[in-house]
Amino acid sequence: MCDDKNIISVFNKGHKDRAWIEIELNNLKNNVDEIQKLLGDRCKIMAVVKANAYGHGAIEISKYLNSIGIVNFAVATIDEALELRSNGVGGNILILGYTNPDRFDDLIRYNLIQNVINFEYAGVVNKFGKKIRVHIKIDTGMCRLGEKVTHVDKINKIFDMCNLDVEAIFTHLHVDDSQKIENVNYTSHQIRNFYNLVDCLKNEHKREFKVHIMNSYGAIDYPELSGDYARVGICLYGVKSSKNDEFKNEVNLKPVLSLKARIACVKEINANDGVSYGRDFIAKHKMKIATVTIGYADGYPRCLSNTGTCVLINGRKTPILGRICMDQLIVDVTDIDNVNTGSIVTLIGKDGNEFISVEDISEKAGTISNEILSRLSLRLEYCYNE
Ligand SMILES: *Cc1c(COP(=O)(O)O)cnc(C)c1O
Repeated sequence: MCDDKNIISVFNKGHKDRAWIEIELNNLKNNVDEIQKLLGDRCKIMAVVKANAYGHGAIEISKYLNSIGIVNFAVATIDEALELRSNGVGGNILILGYTNPDRFDDLIRYNLIQNVINFEYAGVVNKFGKKIRVHIKIDTGMCRLGEKVTHVDKINKIFDMCNLDVEAIFTHLHVDDSQKIENVNYTSHQIRNFYNLVDCLKNEHKREFKVHIMNSYGAIDYPELSGDYARVGICLYGVKSSKNDEFKNEVNLKPVLSLKARIACVKEINANDGVSYGRDFIAKHKMKIATVTIGYADGYPRCLSNTGTCVLINGRKTPILGRICMDQLIVDVTDIDNVNTGSIVTLIGKDGNEFISVEDISEKAGTISNEILSRLSLRLEYCYNE
Protein backbone atom coordinates (compact mmCIF):
# COMPACT_ATOMS: atom_id res chain seq x y z
CA MET A 1 0.00 0.00 0.00
CA CYS A 2 1.09 3.46 -0.78
CA ASP A 3 1.05 5.70 2.29
CA ASP A 4 0.99 9.37 1.26
CA LYS A 5 2.28 10.67 4.57
CA ASN A 6 5.22 8.35 4.42
CA ILE A 7 6.07 9.45 0.91
CA ILE A 8 6.11 13.10 1.90
CA SER A 9 8.27 12.44 4.92
CA VAL A 10 10.89 10.57 2.91
CA PHE A 11 10.76 12.77 -0.18
CA ASN A 12 13.77 14.98 -0.67
CA LYS A 13 14.62 15.32 3.00
CA GLY A 14 18.02 14.78 4.49
CA HIS A 15 19.05 11.93 2.22
CA LYS A 16 21.65 13.64 0.11
CA ASP A 17 20.99 10.70 -2.16
CA ARG A 18 21.53 12.26 -5.57
CA ALA A 19 22.27 15.97 -6.00
CA TRP A 20 21.95 18.63 -3.36
CA ILE A 21 22.94 22.04 -2.15
CA GLU A 22 24.33 22.57 1.31
CA ILE A 23 23.77 25.89 3.03
CA GLU A 24 25.97 27.13 5.86
CA LEU A 25 23.70 29.43 7.84
CA ASN A 26 26.66 30.51 9.99
CA ASN A 27 28.29 31.95 6.91
CA LEU A 28 25.10 33.82 6.10
CA LYS A 29 25.21 35.30 9.61
CA ASN A 30 28.86 36.21 9.10
CA ASN A 31 27.98 38.07 5.89
CA VAL A 32 25.07 39.90 7.53
CA ASP A 33 27.38 41.01 10.35
CA GLU A 34 30.18 42.04 7.99
CA ILE A 35 27.89 44.13 5.79
CA GLN A 36 26.00 45.64 8.73
CA LYS A 37 29.36 46.64 10.24
CA LEU A 38 30.16 48.65 7.10
CA LEU A 39 26.71 50.23 7.01
CA GLY A 40 26.77 51.36 10.63
CA ASP A 41 23.77 51.57 12.94
CA ARG A 42 21.46 53.82 11.00
CA CYS A 43 21.17 51.86 7.77
CA LYS A 44 19.52 48.45 7.91
CA ILE A 45 19.98 45.52 5.59
CA MET A 46 17.00 44.81 3.36
CA ALA A 47 17.67 41.18 2.45
CA VAL A 48 17.02 40.54 -1.22
CA VAL A 49 15.58 37.02 -1.35
CA LYS A 50 14.12 37.07 -4.87
CA ALA A 51 14.56 34.07 -7.17
CA ASN A 52 14.42 31.60 -4.29
CA ALA A 53 17.02 33.65 -2.40
CA TYR A 54 19.43 33.42 -5.33
CA GLY A 55 18.92 29.65 -5.33
CA HIS A 56 19.53 29.25 -1.59
CA GLY A 57 15.88 28.53 -0.68
CA ALA A 58 13.85 31.65 0.08
CA ILE A 59 11.76 30.24 2.93
CA GLU A 60 14.58 28.78 5.00
CA ILE A 61 16.89 31.71 4.32
CA SER A 62 14.26 34.31 5.22
CA LYS A 63 13.16 32.48 8.36
CA TYR A 64 16.76 32.24 9.47
CA LEU A 65 17.32 35.93 8.72
CA ASN A 66 14.20 36.73 10.75
CA SER A 67 15.68 34.74 13.63
CA ILE A 68 18.85 36.85 13.61
CA GLY A 69 16.93 40.11 13.53
CA ILE A 70 16.47 40.95 9.85
CA VAL A 71 12.99 42.41 9.35
CA ASN A 72 13.24 43.94 5.87
CA PHE A 73 13.02 41.82 2.74
CA ALA A 74 12.78 42.38 -0.99
CA VAL A 75 11.44 39.97 -3.61
CA ALA A 76 10.76 40.30 -7.31
CA THR A 77 7.18 39.05 -7.54
CA ILE A 78 4.02 38.97 -5.49
CA ASP A 79 4.01 35.18 -5.43
CA GLU A 80 7.48 35.18 -3.94
CA ALA A 81 6.12 37.48 -1.24
CA LEU A 82 3.11 35.24 -0.60
CA GLU A 83 5.36 32.21 -0.29
CA LEU A 84 7.29 33.96 2.48
CA ARG A 85 4.19 35.16 4.30
CA SER A 86 2.46 31.78 4.16
CA ASN A 87 5.56 30.25 5.73
CA GLY A 88 5.59 32.65 8.63
CA VAL A 89 8.17 35.21 7.50
CA GLY A 90 7.51 38.46 9.33
CA GLY A 91 8.53 42.05 8.79
CA ASN A 92 8.42 44.27 5.72
CA ILE A 93 8.39 42.68 2.28
CA LEU A 94 8.94 44.96 -0.71
CA ILE A 95 7.98 43.70 -4.17
CA LEU A 96 10.58 45.11 -6.54
CA GLY A 97 8.77 44.20 -9.76
CA TYR A 98 5.48 44.95 -11.45
CA THR A 99 2.31 43.59 -9.86
CA ASN A 100 -0.78 43.26 -11.99
CA PRO A 101 -3.77 45.21 -10.58
CA ASP A 102 -5.85 42.04 -10.19
CA ARG A 103 -3.46 41.11 -7.38
CA PHE A 104 -3.72 44.36 -5.42
CA ASP A 105 -6.05 42.73 -2.87
CA ASP A 106 -3.24 40.36 -1.96
CA LEU A 107 -0.93 43.30 -1.30
CA ILE A 108 -3.31 44.40 1.43
CA ARG A 109 -4.24 40.96 2.71
CA TYR A 110 -0.57 39.97 3.20
CA ASN A 111 0.61 43.41 4.32
CA LEU A 112 3.08 43.79 1.45
CA ILE A 113 4.81 46.84 0.00
CA GLN A 114 4.56 47.52 -3.72
CA ASN A 115 7.19 49.28 -5.81
CA VAL A 116 5.49 52.16 -7.60
CA ILE A 117 7.29 51.88 -10.89
CA ASN A 118 6.29 55.24 -12.42
CA PHE A 119 3.69 58.00 -12.37
CA GLU A 120 1.22 56.10 -14.51
CA TYR A 121 1.42 52.98 -12.33
CA ALA A 122 1.02 55.12 -9.21
CA GLY A 123 -2.30 56.28 -10.66
CA VAL A 124 -3.39 52.69 -11.19
CA VAL A 125 -2.50 51.77 -7.60
CA ASN A 126 -4.27 54.89 -6.31
CA LYS A 127 -7.43 54.05 -8.27
CA PHE A 128 -7.73 50.72 -6.46
CA GLY A 129 -9.32 52.80 -3.74
CA LYS A 130 -7.79 51.16 -0.67
CA LYS A 131 -4.61 52.15 1.15
CA ILE A 132 -1.58 50.34 -0.23
CA ARG A 133 1.94 50.54 1.20
CA VAL A 134 4.40 51.67 -1.48
CA HIS A 135 7.98 52.64 -2.15
CA ILE A 136 8.48 54.99 -5.11
CA LYS A 137 11.15 53.95 -7.58
CA ILE A 138 13.21 56.73 -9.16
CA ASP A 139 15.05 56.18 -12.43
CA THR A 140 18.41 57.92 -12.05
CA GLY A 141 19.82 56.44 -15.23
CA MET A 142 19.34 52.71 -15.54
CA CYS A 143 16.31 53.19 -17.80
CA ARG A 144 14.54 50.16 -16.33
CA LEU A 145 11.84 50.84 -13.71
CA GLY A 146 11.18 54.15 -11.99
CA GLU A 147 9.88 57.64 -12.63
CA LYS A 148 12.59 59.80 -14.12
CA VAL A 149 14.54 61.73 -11.51
CA THR A 150 13.97 65.00 -13.41
CA HIS A 151 10.15 64.62 -13.34
CA VAL A 152 9.80 66.37 -10.01
CA ASP A 153 6.22 67.48 -10.65
CA LYS A 154 5.05 63.96 -11.34
CA ILE A 155 6.89 62.62 -8.30
CA ASN A 156 5.29 65.33 -6.16
CA LYS A 157 1.90 64.25 -7.45
CA ILE A 158 2.61 60.62 -6.54
CA PHE A 159 3.30 61.78 -2.97
CA ASP A 160 -0.10 63.45 -2.89
CA MET A 161 -2.12 60.46 -4.07
CA CYS A 162 -4.44 59.72 -1.19
CA ASN A 163 -4.49 55.91 -1.38
CA LEU A 164 -0.74 55.54 -1.50
CA ASP A 165 0.97 55.03 1.81
CA VAL A 166 4.37 56.30 0.64
CA GLU A 167 6.92 54.82 3.02
CA ALA A 168 10.08 55.32 0.99
CA ILE A 169 11.68 56.37 -2.26
CA PHE A 170 14.59 54.53 -3.82
CA THR A 171 16.80 54.18 -6.84
CA HIS A 172 19.22 51.62 -8.24
CA LEU A 173 22.90 52.05 -9.02
CA HIS A 174 23.84 50.08 -12.12
CA VAL A 175 27.57 50.56 -12.57
CA ASP A 176 28.60 50.64 -8.91
CA ASP A 177 30.36 47.28 -9.33
CA SER A 178 33.06 49.01 -11.37
CA GLN A 179 36.06 51.03 -10.17
CA LYS A 180 36.65 52.55 -13.61
CA ILE A 181 36.84 56.29 -13.31
CA GLU A 182 34.03 56.99 -15.77
CA ASN A 183 31.75 54.60 -13.90
CA VAL A 184 32.67 56.04 -10.52
CA ASN A 185 31.88 59.52 -11.88
CA TYR A 186 28.63 58.30 -13.37
CA THR A 187 27.60 56.72 -10.03
CA SER A 188 28.39 60.00 -8.21
CA HIS A 189 26.16 61.77 -10.71
CA GLN A 190 23.30 59.31 -10.03
CA ILE A 191 23.79 59.72 -6.28
CA ARG A 192 23.81 63.53 -6.49
CA ASN A 193 20.65 63.67 -8.58
CA PHE A 194 18.86 61.27 -6.27
CA TYR A 195 19.72 63.13 -3.06
CA ASN A 196 18.81 66.46 -4.65
CA LEU A 197 15.39 65.02 -5.37
CA VAL A 198 15.13 63.69 -1.80
CA ASP A 199 15.88 67.18 -0.41
CA CYS A 200 13.35 68.70 -2.71
CA LEU A 201 10.64 66.22 -1.63
CA LYS A 202 11.45 66.71 2.07
CA ASN A 203 10.94 70.47 1.65
CA GLU A 204 7.79 70.13 -0.36
CA HIS A 205 6.00 67.51 1.72
CA LYS A 206 7.16 68.05 5.31
CA ARG A 207 6.72 64.44 6.22
CA GLU A 208 8.83 61.44 7.02
CA PHE A 209 9.78 58.90 4.41
CA LYS A 210 12.63 56.50 4.11
CA VAL A 211 15.31 56.36 1.44
CA HIS A 212 17.33 53.53 -0.11
CA ILE A 213 19.92 53.49 -2.84
CA MET A 214 22.55 50.79 -2.21
CA ASN A 215 22.61 47.25 -3.54
CA SER A 216 25.39 44.81 -2.52
CA TYR A 217 28.21 46.64 -4.24
CA GLY A 218 26.82 49.97 -3.10
CA ALA A 219 26.73 48.72 0.50
CA ILE A 220 30.34 47.61 0.35
CA ASP A 221 31.84 50.36 -1.79
CA TYR A 222 29.63 53.32 -0.84
CA PRO A 223 28.53 52.50 2.74
CA GLU A 224 28.84 56.18 3.69
CA LEU A 225 25.80 57.04 1.55
CA SER A 226 22.95 58.03 3.76
CA GLY A 227 19.99 55.72 3.54
CA ASP A 228 17.66 53.79 5.77
CA TYR A 229 18.08 50.48 3.99
CA ALA A 230 20.60 48.77 1.75
CA ARG A 231 19.08 46.21 -0.61
CA VAL A 232 21.65 43.46 -0.32
CA GLY A 233 21.43 40.38 -2.54
CA ILE A 234 24.45 38.65 -3.99
CA CYS A 235 26.92 39.60 -1.24
CA LEU A 236 24.62 38.32 1.48
CA TYR A 237 25.30 34.92 -0.03
CA GLY A 238 29.03 35.53 0.27
CA VAL A 239 29.90 35.79 -3.41
CA LYS A 240 30.80 38.46 -5.91
CA SER A 241 29.00 38.75 -9.23
CA SER A 242 32.26 38.24 -11.14
CA LYS A 243 35.57 36.83 -10.08
CA ASN A 244 37.58 39.91 -10.99
CA ASP A 245 35.34 42.43 -9.25
CA GLU A 246 37.23 44.34 -6.62
CA PHE A 247 35.87 45.96 -3.51
CA LYS A 248 37.18 49.29 -2.28
CA ASN A 249 36.48 48.34 1.33
CA GLU A 250 37.66 45.38 3.36
CA VAL A 251 34.91 42.81 3.86
CA ASN A 252 35.23 39.18 4.88
CA LEU A 253 32.41 37.45 3.00
CA LYS A 254 32.01 33.68 3.21
CA PRO A 255 30.20 31.67 0.53
CA VAL A 256 27.00 30.15 1.87
CA LEU A 257 26.23 27.52 -0.76
CA SER A 258 27.88 24.30 -1.89
CA LEU A 259 26.66 22.04 -4.70
CA LYS A 260 27.21 18.31 -4.42
CA ALA A 261 26.25 15.02 -6.06
CA ARG A 262 27.22 11.37 -5.99
CA ILE A 263 28.98 8.91 -8.21
CA ALA A 264 26.59 6.45 -9.81
CA CYS A 265 29.21 4.18 -11.32
CA VAL A 266 32.89 3.90 -12.14
CA LYS A 267 34.18 2.24 -15.30
CA GLU A 268 37.27 1.71 -17.37
CA ILE A 269 37.43 2.85 -20.96
CA ASN A 270 39.97 2.24 -23.69
CA ALA A 271 41.82 4.47 -26.14
CA ASN A 272 39.42 5.80 -28.81
CA ASP A 273 36.29 5.36 -26.69
CA GLY A 274 34.11 8.49 -27.02
CA VAL A 275 32.51 9.83 -23.84
CA SER A 276 28.94 11.22 -23.68
CA TYR A 277 26.72 12.66 -26.46
CA GLY A 278 28.47 13.55 -29.66
CA ARG A 279 31.73 11.79 -28.71
CA ASP A 280 33.29 15.21 -28.11
CA PHE A 281 35.82 13.62 -25.77
CA ILE A 282 37.82 10.72 -27.23
CA ALA A 283 40.10 8.84 -24.81
CA LYS A 284 43.75 8.86 -25.87
CA HIS A 285 44.54 5.92 -23.59
CA LYS A 286 42.99 3.64 -21.02
CA MET A 287 41.12 5.68 -18.41
CA LYS A 288 38.98 5.32 -15.31
CA ILE A 289 35.86 7.48 -15.52
CA ALA A 290 32.85 8.06 -13.26
CA THR A 291 29.26 9.05 -13.95
CA VAL A 292 27.97 11.76 -11.59
CA THR A 293 24.33 12.25 -10.56
CA ILE A 294 23.82 15.86 -11.63
CA GLY A 295 23.12 17.56 -14.94
CA TYR A 296 21.90 20.70 -16.59
CA ALA A 297 18.31 20.11 -15.44
CA ASP A 298 19.66 20.64 -11.92
CA GLY A 299 20.99 24.02 -12.97
CA TYR A 300 24.58 23.01 -13.63
CA PRO A 301 25.14 24.80 -16.96
CA ARG A 302 25.44 22.67 -20.07
CA CYS A 303 27.69 25.30 -21.62
CA LEU A 304 30.45 24.11 -19.28
CA SER A 305 30.79 21.03 -21.53
CA ASN A 306 34.27 20.76 -23.09
CA THR A 307 35.64 23.74 -21.15
CA GLY A 308 37.91 21.80 -18.82
CA THR A 309 35.71 22.69 -15.84
CA CYS A 310 36.60 20.58 -12.82
CA VAL A 311 34.81 18.97 -9.91
CA LEU A 312 36.28 17.81 -6.59
CA ILE A 313 36.43 14.19 -5.47
CA ASN A 314 38.31 13.03 -2.35
CA GLY A 315 39.92 16.46 -2.14
CA ARG A 316 41.25 16.30 -5.71
CA LYS A 317 40.37 18.44 -8.72
CA THR A 318 39.39 16.54 -11.84
CA PRO A 319 37.81 17.56 -15.15
CA ILE A 320 34.40 16.88 -16.64
CA LEU A 321 34.66 14.83 -19.85
CA GLY A 322 32.59 15.62 -22.94
CA ARG A 323 29.07 16.97 -22.86
CA ILE A 324 27.06 17.53 -19.72
CA CYS A 325 23.75 15.65 -19.94
CA MET A 326 20.35 16.58 -18.51
CA ASP A 327 20.70 14.45 -15.40
CA GLN A 328 24.30 13.28 -15.38
CA LEU A 329 27.83 14.17 -16.26
CA ILE A 330 31.01 12.16 -16.59
CA VAL A 331 34.37 12.89 -14.98
CA ASP A 332 37.94 11.60 -15.19
CA VAL A 333 38.92 9.64 -12.06
CA THR A 334 41.97 7.89 -13.53
CA ASP A 335 44.31 9.34 -10.91
CA ILE A 336 41.99 9.38 -7.91
CA ASP A 337 41.95 6.54 -5.40
CA ASN A 338 38.96 5.20 -3.53
CA VAL A 339 36.30 6.38 -5.93
CA ASN A 340 33.21 4.21 -5.69
CA THR A 341 29.52 4.18 -6.34
CA GLY A 342 28.09 6.63 -3.79
CA SER A 343 31.26 8.74 -3.42
CA ILE A 344 30.56 12.45 -3.01
CA VAL A 345 31.39 14.92 -5.78
CA THR A 346 31.66 18.67 -5.05
CA LEU A 347 30.78 20.90 -7.99
CA ILE A 348 30.75 24.17 -6.02
CA GLY A 349 32.40 24.42 -2.63
CA LYS A 350 35.25 22.94 -0.62
CA ASP A 351 36.64 19.43 -0.44
CA GLY A 352 39.81 19.06 1.62
CA ASN A 353 42.18 21.83 0.59
CA GLU A 354 40.56 22.38 -2.79
CA PHE A 355 37.80 24.89 -3.50
CA ILE A 356 35.64 25.67 -6.53
CA SER A 357 33.84 28.98 -6.21
CA VAL A 358 30.57 30.06 -7.80
CA GLU A 359 32.66 32.81 -9.41
CA ASP A 360 34.93 30.17 -11.06
CA ILE A 361 31.93 28.36 -12.50
CA SER A 362 30.30 31.62 -13.64
CA GLU A 363 33.42 32.82 -15.39
CA LYS A 364 33.75 29.50 -17.23
CA ALA A 365 30.07 29.66 -18.19
CA GLY A 366 30.45 33.23 -19.47
CA THR A 367 28.00 34.70 -16.98
CA ILE A 368 27.73 36.09 -13.44
CA SER A 369 27.27 34.29 -10.12
CA ASN A 370 23.77 35.74 -9.83
CA GLU A 371 22.61 33.75 -12.86
CA ILE A 372 24.29 30.48 -11.89
CA LEU A 373 22.83 30.63 -8.38
CA SER A 374 19.33 31.77 -9.30
CA ARG A 375 18.99 29.02 -11.91
CA LEU A 376 19.78 26.17 -9.54
CA SER A 377 16.89 23.79 -9.88
CA LEU A 378 14.19 22.86 -7.41
CA ARG A 379 15.01 19.23 -8.24
CA LEU A 380 18.02 19.60 -5.96
CA GLU A 381 17.69 18.70 -2.33
CA TYR A 382 18.19 21.66 0.03
CA CYS A 383 20.18 20.94 3.20
CA TYR A 384 20.77 23.56 5.91
CA ASN A 385 23.57 23.42 8.46
CA GLU A 386 23.52 25.71 11.44
C1 LIG B 1 18.11 42.39 -7.36
C2 LIG B 1 18.08 43.77 -6.86
C3 LIG B 1 18.92 44.16 -5.81
C4 LIG B 1 19.98 43.27 -5.24
O1 LIG B 1 21.15 43.41 -6.00
P1 LIG B 1 22.51 42.70 -5.61
O2 LIG B 1 23.48 43.25 -6.58
O3 LIG B 1 22.30 41.25 -5.76
O4 LIG B 1 22.80 43.10 -4.21
C5 LIG B 1 18.78 45.45 -5.33
N1 LIG B 1 17.88 46.30 -5.87
C6 LIG B 1 17.09 45.97 -6.89
C7 LIG B 1 16.13 46.96 -7.42
C8 LIG B 1 17.17 44.69 -7.43
O5 LIG B 1 16.39 44.37 -8.47
